[in-house]
Amino acid sequence: MDGDLVLVVNSGSSSIKYQLVAPESGTVVAAGLMERIGESGGGALEHTADGRTLSDHVTIPDHTAGLRLAFEKFAETGHDLASAGVTAVGHRVVHGGEVFYRPTLVDDRVLATIDELSALAPLHNPANVRGIEAVRTLLPGVPQVAVFDTAFFHGLPDAAKTYAIDAQVAAAHGIRRYGFHGTSHEYVSGRVAEFLGRPAESLKQIVFHLGNGASVSALRGGRPVDTSMGLTPLEGLVMGTRPGDLDPGIILHLMRTVQLDVDGVDRLLNRRSGLRGMAGVNDFRELRRLIGEGHEPARLAYDVYVHRLRHYLGAYLIELGGVDAITFTAGVGENNPDVRADALAGLSGFGIAVDHDRNTAPERTARRISPPDAKVDVLVVPTNEELAIARAAAALTEKA
Ligand code: ADP
Repeated sequence: MDGDLVLVVNSGSSSIKYQLVAPESGTVVAAGLMERIGESGGGALEHTADGRTLSDHVTIPDHTAGLRLAFEKFAETGHDLASAGVTAVGHRVVHGGEVFYRPTLVDDRVLATIDELSALAPLHNPANVRGIEAVRTLLPGVPQVAVFDTAFFHGLPDAAKTYAIDAQVAAAHGIRRYGFHGTSHEYVSGRVAEFLGRPAESLKQIVFHLGNGASVSALRGGRPVDTSMGLTPLEGLVMGTRPGDLDPGIILHLMRTVQLDVDGVDRLLNRRSGLRGMAGVNDFRELRRLIGEGHEPARLAYDVYVHRLRHYLGAYLIELGGVDAITFTAGVGENNPDVRADALAGLSGFGIAVDHDRNTAPERTARRISPPDAKVDVLVVPTNEELAIARAAAALTEKA
């Protein structure tokens, strides 16, 4: 018995990430990543428990098979999930539409509604549904909680969430800014208030979540007032494989001139754009290596990436009427000092500066990277979406 634990499951279209977490302490008992689910060349699994990593290369036909395999790995490493004291399972669900804006206990109706919302997130929600169904079979009787990536942004002001298109079309099809990475933006902005020792209600914040997907949010008093992702996670910042902001006319032009169809547009925007589209690689470490070798497209991709960060920084600075804290999080935001320095370069007139030594120190915990006397606190705060999901699931099931 490990005591009260929450299994956190994040099912992507061809991947599953999972963690077994003690929600109070944040201790990760075991964690794993499964990739290339459903792909003919075979899948890959890495499962880490008690400092030991098991790797496997096997065909993983679908999410049910994937989760069954994960459960076997848990048992092999001494954490049989049927007897490990799992009190809840928390699922990251990408799109909650207008329906779900807080963590929600999953029943048949909730599951059907998440499935219906697939029209808004065709790459994500079906995978989330499959993950929930698989865990239901494997851990019957354990409550499952859906934690929505869109939930935190539910109360965005009308002017920030409304697209300037035909209002009837928008209303009929649920077209509005929903925003994503909400669990991360909520967790990180809360940690910022803790770190600064100030109530969240008193702070104006800008949070850059820069991972493979990337988004930025503006918060006043702990609540988001704007965010860069929109109806889907395609809008906003430049990402690993997605373009972020784009003139919609580009799509019309390609549809007319080279007869690009829906699937072609989908591939172009979700897989062949962003850093990969411009420079051939979507991993930021690879991009930096190419830049070091004098690869011009990589340099341009980096410049476009930073340009977009500054574009949003400027917009949100004005929307908020000033800022107290600017925070970087996720893979790139936490690990790449150049991006942080370049995004905020030349802004001392706004009270925004980055201290070179603090910015390049190899620390991993929440830290301040602005000079001690700077008006605006610039911070690096590691995100932990899994812990936030585990805590939300534990809180909801304790109440039930
Ligand atoms: P996601 O959860 O969206 O898949 P992550 O938050 O894990 O993404 O971020 C992935 C990105 O972070 C990749 O571009 C990767 O290169 C970058 N990254 C991760 N670790 C480092 C590191 N140590 N140094 C620089 N970049 C890193």
